[in-house]
Amino acid sequence: MTLKQVKALKLGDILHHNNKKEKDGSCQKWKVISGPKAYNYLNLKTTHKNKSAKFYVGLQHEKEQFAYLTELWLHLYHLPNKCTNSNKGSE
Ligand SMILES: [Zn+2]
Repeated sequence: MTLKQVKALKLGDILHHNNKKEKDGSCQKWKVISGPKAYNYLNLKTTHKNKSAKFYVGLQHEKEQFAYLTELWLHLYHLPNKCTNSNKGSE
């Protein structure tokens, strides 16, 4: 997805993971739980790679998996309305 698409996200929006699948074969779904915000790595538990990021969106999958989507990881997600997986699964 593009930087412009990510910056337009709102809390509660759903993103699909490009590579990971749910048990039913549909794209793994990640919910936007924070941001988009300017990235301040001092306030975040972060990885070395993310230090060059300028902004982030907080994502959650199921109850216990969390991720930060920064501009470095745009290639890993797509919007549901851009989904090319013929298996849409259950929402
Ligand atoms: Zn998808």
